[in-house]
Amino acid sequence: MNHVVRSRRVVTPEGVRPAAIHIADGTIARVADWDDCGYDFTDYGDLAVLPGIVDTHVHLNEPGRTEWEGFATATYAAAIGGVTTLVDMPLNSIPPTTTREGFAAKRQAAQGQCAVDVGFWGGVVPGNQRELAGLVADGVRGFKCFLVDSGVAEFGWVGESELAPAMQILAGLGAPLLVHAEVAGPIDAVAAELATADPHRYATYLASRPPAAEEQAIQLVTRLCRATRARTHIVHHSAASALPLLRDARAEGLPLTAETCPHYLHFTAEAIPDGATPFKCAPPIREAANREALWDALAEGVLELVASDHSPCSPSLKAMEVGDFVSAWGGVSGLQLAPSVVWTEASRRGHSLVDLVRWMCAGPARLAGLAARKGAIAPGLDADLVVFADDERFEVTTTAIQHRHKVTPYVGETLRGAVHATYLRGQLIAERGKLLVTEQGELL
Ligand SMILES: [Zn+2]
Repeated sequence: MNHVVRSRRVVTPEGVRPAAIHIADGTIARVADWDDCGYDFTDYGDLAVLPGIVDTHVHLNEPGRTEWEGFATATYAAAIGGVTTLVDMPLNSIPPTTTREGFAAKRQAAQGQCAVDVGFWGGVVPGNQRELAGLVADGVRGFKCFLVDSGVAEFGWVGESELAPAMQILAGLGAPLLVHAEVAGPIDAVAAELATADPHRYATYLASRPPAAEEQAIQLVTRLCRATRARTHIVHHSAASALPLLRDARAEGLPLTAETCPHYLHFTAEAIPDGATPFKCAPPIREAANREALWDALAEGVLELVASDHSPCSPSLKAMEVGDFVSAWGGVSGLQLAPSVVWTEASRRGHSLVDLVRWMCAGPARLAGLAARKGAIAPGLDADLVVFADDERFEVTTTAIQHRHKVTPYVGETLRGAVHATYLRGQLIAERGKLLVTEQGELL
């Protein structure tokens, strides 16, 4: 299956240039000059061609909570949104990916259902240290842990006494540890005072997850990273006040990286209506000044990458009729829209498509140990491509959403940057919001 895709604006690691991408057997054979395209080629004119987006933070919830989301629906949404590789989080499915049996059940559930490539994170939970080496041998790409209640009973959180030995093991295995960086102390400290506050107000929810919870978690994790040298990654970083800690860890040369999410880069606490529970996530979406600090940290490289943290649930669990932030499930649904959301805000701040690719393709591919296959338009890599109309604006409507459920805080938003076509390993799998080929995804 040899083919050529060409455009006046191909985003390569060296920059944006006119090029003809020669594809052979699903991989990029070479990136040639624009007019070196043979006879069988598809010309995308001035539309940008990017590497497929790699999203390393997705909760697929199958098996066990497939009514929240699942492999078929999430990978459909991913494909039309330009996301060609997902890495699934180990919790919210039942069983969670914390044992070899749990991982086998997960892979079996995914088999034959995926429209894009899917990899898996395992979980570090109390008492599963003996599972970690086996999970790596079976193919998990690293591990996720919580330092605070995860929201589901079957995925417990770990304290320092459990985390330190686990990180020692992971350092030996060379597997990264992804950390939900909030600790309970500062959250518990404000709980009594907020017990009588109005649960419909977003301000109440925001106050219940103070930045200090992130700061103290990162202090703990930095200390353990220094002691064990385990490769450590902070997921969904939100608090601007904790960024100096990341900057210091980086300056010290620790193997500690961090991501943020589209919702923290797009929304602001000031604009979230009371009762609007689709915006609830942990840590929370903070104020406008916080958002700008996250953008500065991305530009500086203190935040390395952007991942969606797509974490949907059944609509009833969002408690939208009552609009109660306390009882609603926490998690933002936004996988399909992630590249457009980030581009909307990035382009507004003068960033380029090269930056977008660094944050959403190359960075996540590196985190998941996939850089030899994914994350760039370069010879030898999988021919995962996204044709992106970076100037096209569109309004998000519920009918366009292909997640299992339509609940998302992005409905009604006007975004910049539309995905016109998605190629997975050389094959055109989606075009203009329509999935053309199902089940082409591989389990990585
Ligand atoms: Zn998550």
